Amino acid sequence: MPHVYLGLGSNLGDGNGRLNRALDLLREQVGEVLAVSDYVQSEPWGFRSEHIFTNAVCLMQTTLTPWQLLDQTQAIERQMGRTHKHAPGESYTDRIIDIDILLYDDVVIQSEQLTLPHPYIEQRDFVKFPLQQCRERARQRGLLK
Ligand code: AMP
Repeated sequence: MPHVYLGLGSNLGDGNGRLNRALDLLREQVGEVLAVSDYVQSEPWGFRSEHIFTNAVCLMQTTLTPWQLLDQTQAIERQMGRTHKHAPGESYTDRIIDIDILLYDDVVIQSEQLTLPHPYIEQRDFVKFPLQQCRERARQRGLLK
């Protein structure tokens, strides 16, 4: 079954609670969560805001295709109350929840709606280090080669 890494972020309300809720909805609607990184606090990236982000990365198994996964993660964002998605070229804003698909096995897709691997992994410490930690936790549990 495909392995996917998702980046989760929230900077409105109770960050830990938002990420916990997103993980519950992902378990219900996407598949099994195999590992989760620690939750980290980070400054807004690419825009100014007084609201600090809470971020994490999770590893999941899913039967959804990459496109179905994008639809489902966006549906979860809406279920959690997110109304605004930033369009390409538009600046970022505060958000209740953001779910990014970081990696989907070794699938490569280059389109405006979906880019895989996610293009900003290396530039964002709040993604890069939790991703390493999540992968390491899964490896220690014997879930990865
Ligand atoms: P956001 O940053 O959550 O407002 O998302 C902006 C847009 O990025 C969405 O409408 C997606 O279609 C697009 N997008 C492109 N690649 C990805 C990806 N790997 N994961 C999530 N969204 C993506």
